[in-house]
Amino acid sequence: MDLSFILNELGEDRENYFNAVSPPIMQSSNFAFKTVADIRQAMTCEFDTNLYSRGQNPTLTILRKKLAALDGAEDALLFNSGIAAITVSMLSLLKSGDHVIAIDDAYSWTSKFFKSFLPKFNVTTTLIDGTDFSNFENAILPSTRLIFLESPNTLTYQLQDIKKVAGLAKSKGILTMIDNSYCTPLFQQPINLGIDLVAQSATKYIGGHSDVVAGVITGRKALIKQIFENEFMNFGPALSPHSAWLLLRGLRTLPLRLQRSFESTQIITQWLEANEAIQKVLWPFSASFNQLTLAHEQMQGCGGLFSFILKDSSLSKIEDFCNRLKHIMIAVSWGGHESLIVPSIASIPENQYRTDDEHHQLIRMYIGLEEPDYLIKDLAQALASKNQ
Ligand SMILES: *Cc1c(COP(=O)(O)O)cnc(C)c1O
Repeated sequence: MDLSFILNELGEDRENYFNAVSPPIMQSSNFAFKTVADIRQAMTCEFDTNLYSRGQNPTLTILRKKLAALDGAEDALLFNSGIAAITVSMLSLLKSGDHVIAIDDAYSWTSKFFKSFLPKFNVTTTLIDGTDFSNFENAILPSTRLIFLESPNTLTYQLQDIKKVAGLAKSKGILTMIDNSYCTPLFQQPINLGIDLVAQSATKYIGGHSDVVAGVITGRKALIKQIFENEFMNFGPALSPHSAWLLLRGLRTLPLRLQRSFESTQIITQWLEANEAIQKVLWPFSASFNQLTLAHEQMQGCGGLFSFILKDSSLSKIEDFCNRLKHIMIAVSWGGHESLIVPSIASIPENQYRTDDEHHQLIRMYIGLEEPDYLIKDLAQALASKNQ
């Protein structure tokens, strides 16, 4: 389907709302019916009907159609956060006694779900280094129900060979899910590579303006419907119509924002790699990246999130460098218009910092929509500081 058609026309029903170019925010919890027969009919299939906004809502339906089409999926389900999309969907697929294989360096709350939450319901998880395909083969048990991927992940950017893992899973009747927030469907299409369910934190690139928290899962209609009719309706993680409208607004410019973020990141990572104060840059499209070939094989572009390590990785130097930035803000999250930075040390107690642990030394940076020169000047002045 044509990208321009998806972003501008698909799912929109302008004749039904005064030919307004921008769709209405259908801020209604509830929808009325003419007859009992009509409402009875609606209740038999809430998945396809506007009955009550914990289920479907017309503003959300526009977004649902667009996000499904972008992924090349049959259907989509929207959530009030990315982590709700991931955890509620997994809860729907798993039952007591099941086994999951997941990468060991996933998004922090996803990891917590595997380590602390699923064990309460007698679901076990084997966490593996997903860069080595044989680890997937070796971890499979008769009870393995699901393989969870995140490629690349968002601190060390490790990749998994998506097509190979999907092929393996299919041959064993195992479901696959991937967190594709980093690439978005514009830079990576996991469903075309054989993945069953694709999750995204729409808070990041889809929204793109740091003003909405949201999530989405896409896949075959039967799977999406199963999640909707059970855990989704029972836990109630629905997105609000206003948030859906903000995401529709963000989507219109997704290709431009993503491309800009990608190109600026290329310039800035190259500048950092050439800087004598920098020890190492981690970014999947860097010439020095250890999985560059796979990155080019399965990604059509690269997100604007990367990490780097200073040559002088003392705690005070990292902290001082971040504090000195004048325009790049210290904050979590990413995918918006503004460039951000957060060092790993922000989440490590000071007395546990280890200079010999690369994870501790990493500084994560996101490149937004500013002029690359503007950001480079800011980085240069913060790196140049000799006040240590
Ligand atoms: C932010 C993020 C999430 C969680 O999404 P929320 O919208 O914050 O709930 C999941 N995965 C990745 C890779 C993320 O960056």
